[in-house]
Amino acid sequence: MAEQKYNPYENMLSDLDGAAALLGMTRSDYEAFRYPERELKVAIPIRMDDGDIRVFEGYRIQHSGTRGPCKGGIRYHPDVNMDEVKALAAWMSLKCAVVDIPYGGAKGGVRVNPKELSKGELERLTRRFTAMISPILGPERDIPAPDVNTNAEIMGWIMDTYSMMNGHATPGVVTGKPLEIGGSLGRPEATGRGVFLCVNEAVKAYFGGKTGLRVAVQGMGNVGGFAAQLLAEDGYKIVAAGGSAGGYYKADGLDVPAMLDYIANGPTRSLKGYEEPGAIKLAPGAELTCDCDILLPCALEHVLTADNAGDVKAKLIVEGANGPTTVEADAILEKNGVIVVPDILANAGGVVVSYFEWVQNEQHLYWDLAEVRERLTKIMLRSFAEVQALAGEHKTSLRMGAYMNALQRLVKAKKIRGYFP
Ligand code: GLU
Repeated sequence: MAEQKYNPYENMLSDLDGAAALLGMTRSDYEAFRYPERELKVAIPIRMDDGDIRVFEGYRIQHSGTRGPCKGGIRYHPDVNMDEVKALAAWMSLKCAVVDIPYGGAKGGVRVNPKELSKGELERLTRRFTAMISPILGPERDIPAPDVNTNAEIMGWIMDTYSMMNGHATPGVVTGKPLEIGGSLGRPEATGRGVFLCVNEAVKAYFGGKTGLRVAVQGMGNVGGFAAQLLAEDGYKIVAAGGSAGGYYKADGLDVPAMLDYIANGPTRSLKGYEEPGAIKLAPGAELTCDCDILLPCALEHVLTADNAGDVKAKLIVEGANGPTTVEADAILEKNGVIVVPDILANAGGVVVSYFEWVQNEQHLYWDLAEVRERLTKIMLRSFAEVQALAGEHKTSLRMGAYMNALQRLVKAKKIRGYFP
């Protein structure tokens, strides 16, 4: 099947229209959700360490504030563009609605390769970007968080910059912060834990709770790394793990703790150069089609396409990344009987614990790790069951079930609020 030029926003619209049709909605019922509410593009001038000025392009896009303050991460990547950030913002609105937390959706990004910046340059970029988008940020307006290539330290700079401009410490303006300035226990592991919970629920629902299943993971960062670790501890075999520089395959299971330790403390801060007895080297992307039972794409969007979807051997895909599967690939996977737990459900654990962080900030009352994990588990299991039920009722995919559940909630909220003026 020939694939049209990929546009993530068009991909999102196609799924949204599909869900609306299944729900029997008219275009007027959901027209407002086909457009982001607000798009801000900024040019960020930074003095580099050598004295030169360079300008980076940045975005903050708010898709919907219907169900609450806008919420979503900020990514630093050389491929960031408007259509990508628009799609990511819309997926956040849908994600928050699927798990029923009181947020709308937003996303931000800077077109930059952060690995080429010094720490000082990265901090100046973050602070200037925060200042430039600050008119639309705030604990009641729009709350950023980590995403691809951003982390707790960067969230700390965002918190400080906004707080300096606001006149007082404002921890609730950003989530995924370090613990010392209002972060939440359990936030770093949250997305991976949510993926892990979805794998378990899907295995129970569709594979009779079979044990010892073989898992391939793309992306051993914050999402894939934690998911792999939790799955390995639970008796799954992580047979493949890959990153942008290639990956590894080992039929009797890779040593996940050793791999994560190499990524965190090794010379390349990536999988590059990792060695393990008995592990075979894989070319970049080969983990997607390797021999396994479960596939976790946990890196970037647009990796499962019409070109490789037919070669996927896994019978279950749980999407840790946002938008890894194109509409064309989805059709192929469905035809081949592959169960796909969609991104807006599978990777929602991160934003759920972001929500807990923000609640703790607003209440100035902090929870222990057990409470965070218990509440996260409750929300993930409830959401999985709701999506599964809706998909079953309409004899459709889990992706459509998730989109339908989310769209219903968004449209109901809009109807109750009405249209201003
Ligand atoms: N960037 C994460 C996501 O795509 C987390 C967003 C958040 O916590 O606000 O879901």
